Amino acid sequence: MNELQDRAAWFKGGSTVCATIHALPRQVYRLVLLGAPGVGKGTQADLLCERLGACHLSTGDVFRAAKRLSEGEVNPELETALGCMRRGELVTDETVLALVRQRGRCLRCPVGFVLDGFPRTVEQAVALQGMLERENLPLTATIHYVLPPDQVIARLSGRRTCPGCKASFHLTMQPPRAKGICDHCAGRLFQREDDQPESISVRMRAYEQSASPLLDFYQKRGLLISIDADSSPVETCQHTVTALTGAAAATSHA
Ligand code: AMP
Repeated sequence: MNELQDRAAWFKGGSTVCATIHALPRQVYRLVLLGAPGVGKGTQADLLCERLGACHLSTGDVFRAAKRLSEGEVNPELETALGCMRRGELVTDETVLALVRQRGRCLRCPVGFVLDGFPRTVEQAVALQGMLERENLPLTATIHYVLPPDQVIARLSGRRTCPGCKASFHLTMQPPRAKGICDHCAGRLFQREDDQPESISVRMRAYEQSASPLLDFYQKRGLLISIDADSSPVETCQHTVTALTGAAAATSHA
């Protein structure tokens, strides 16, 4: 298994370079993960990156990291974005696209990428398509993780996150070995502000409004693969890899 890539360039943007780029994978995957908040996109992104050697690019992680910046480092635009995030609302397309454009080099990374949490609207999807077309970097696929809403809510409300390494646990479904402590880096686990009940319902509504046009967008381009997210994280990842290799085989025989 590959180790996860260092994501310094994604977190800091601009001219920052990653300290560690591991061996180039045999096949480069460029994936977009879609699905309701809490469906397990972050966990799947990490597992897929380990399996495929790609880099996990999460816009939500960049906003969460920005919460730890000092006052002088947060511009008014970022301040507004963080307010949206706290309430569970979507950040404006303009702000999100500026953030992704500042990190354009990550889309060109030779190890490929797994985008998690971006795009979330058709406008973002169109902009991403333009950025990739200009660089002649086709998406491999868009994976849509599917889970009934009651299970999504149960996953979100029990989720606990590590502030250090960003690992995600669940109080009952994936508890850490020691209560409240991250298995990987011993960080003290916390509940994300936007995993509180009021924010969960706002986020679910935001997702319902934006999901179906986005799914149509990728369906029409023949890129959409739907995966049932009801199994364990490792099984779901295996189903994803199987579907990806099946799709690649079908394309090569077409
Ligand atoms: P996530 O970790 O992907 O659930 O993102 C956490 C929060 O960050 C979301 O609830 C939004 O407030 C904000 N966010 C992250 N990515 C985007 C995006 N692509 N478009 C709009 N808002 C976003």
